[in-house]
Amino acid sequence: MTELYDYEFLLKRVRESLPETVKHHERFEIPQAEVLHEGKNTIIRNFLNIAKRVNRDPMHMYKYMMRELGTAGTIQGERLVLKGRISPSMVQRRVESYVRTYVLCSECGSPDTELRKEGRVEILVCKACGAIRPVQAKIDVRLATATLKEGKVYDVEITDLSRDGDGIAKYGDYTIYVPGARKGQRVKVKITKIKKNVAFGEVVS
Ligand SMILES: [Zn+2]
Repeated sequence: MTELYDYEFLLKRVRESLPETVKHHERFEIPQAEVLHEGKNTIIRNFLNIAKRVNRDPMHMYKYMMRELGTAGTIQGERLVLKGRISPSMVQRRVESYVRTYVLCSECGSPDTELRKEGRVEILVCKACGAIRPVQAKIDVRLATATLKEGKVYDVEITDLSRDGDGIAKYGDYTIYVPGARKGQRVKVKITKIKKNVAFGEVVS
């Protein structure tokens, strides 16, 4: 009995000392894109299968790949046919960034997540640990160019609380402080003041 306890205790210690990535991704591997070239085109042979394995809408992933690779393409059966010769490693990097951005929970690393749309914002909900986070795509033209204006009203989600208890919402590169708002709340906020990428607002509804 004591030995068993010791063993489990040690196992726990070992697990705790592992880097996050090893601990969380041990059972899930990011799918490998099977890439080949046909003439001037690049083919991802198993594109639909990749989307299926990460449980995402192929069209969603397709749009991401187009945007990130800066090319055009079409889904043909199981395959994604891209214009231009793109190296397999470049394709794989995009697959990996898609999975990290739109699939894996940033809290527990589980791929068992669901992508929801809240207005114009995509939210990743983890079925394993319940964590919720807005998706922050690295290259997202709409968000990167989002600008706030004083006096205008924006629909935002309070994703965090400041040390003083003010609600915090993210909008593009902006952090908005909203006194009186609770975490998880979706509110309309009137921007009262902007300093660089920090803004202050008040709830209007
Ligand atoms: Zn999670």
